[in-house]
Amino acid sequence: MLQPDFDSSPTTVRIHRCKYVSRCKARRCLKRASLIAEKTDVAGRHVRQIELYSQHCQIVIERERSRGLEISDRRNE
Ligand SMILES: [Zn+2]
Repeated sequence: MLQPDFDSSPTTVRIHRCKYVSRCKARRCLKRASLIAEKTDVAGRHVRQIELYSQHCQIVIERERSRGLEISDRRNE
């Protein structure tokens, strides 16, 4: 039986501009999301993402950085 080579633990948070309409996924927030925080694993594979308003995204960035994740800011790409 093949052993799956898959480690889904995220190591990086990529910050993208949100190019579609979505509400900020922070709890009780009604603002429109302007950014996406995408978590990727060590191989750069997508793990999950959430859409966020810019101020809430900044909170996520600081929290994940303090947990040791690398922040890759791609909002100008
Ligand atoms: Zn928000």
